[in-house]
Amino acid sequence: MTSPTPRTRNSLPVATTWTPQRTADLYASFGWRLARGTYRTYDGCSCRNPQCAAPGLHAADADWTQTASSDPQFVRAWLRRHRRACMGTPAGECFDVLELPRATGLQLMRRWEFAEFLTGPVLALTGHLLVFTALRSSGTDETGIGRWLPQTEFLVLPPAGRASAPVRWVVPPTSANTVRLPDPANVLGLIVRSPRRRRTASP
Ligand SMILES: [Zn+2]
Repeated sequence: MTSPTPRTRNSLPVATTWTPQRTADLYASFGWRLARGTYRTYDGCSCRNPQCAAPGLHAADADWTQTASSDPQFVRAWLRRHRRACMGTPAGECFDVLELPRATGLQLMRRWEFAEFLTGPVLALTGHLLVFTALRSSGTDETGIGRWLPQTEFLVLPPAGRASAPVRWVVPPTSANTVRLPDPANVLGLIVRSPRRRRTASP
């Protein structure tokens, strides 16, 4: 008996039927440090801030960047205590994340197909696609195309069934594509390249 598995290039496996514990184990195996997030409640967010701008989509603890861990036992312990919590990881630690408007992100993925370009995980969240790349050596967070998530950003990961917006993998992470991540400059270059200029075009 196997779980149904989304089929994508480079796949996979993060099946939608996986438990949070099993998924957390996989994330931890990539070396990603995981921290406990919030969850949506009937009247807002578990953080109890009536003005919360992102119910169920942010870290639960102020010191989460210090306490986040890739120790599966530690993560399983808080998942058992806080069954409704989402989990997140610090952006800019094992990978950088370029947040693109959904249409731009989909266009990038189409060009990936043509360019036989090295792809990393891609996450869909709140109308955006979040493209994982190798770490940047420097540079600003603003690109004019999208934005690089700062290191202080809590990146919520599936499953997050109690979040206020769907969070799902478009290209799920694997032991291969979390190690051989695309170069950030190449990703930006592919976005700005005219779709009419194919590699096969003659000069
Ligand atoms: Zn909140």
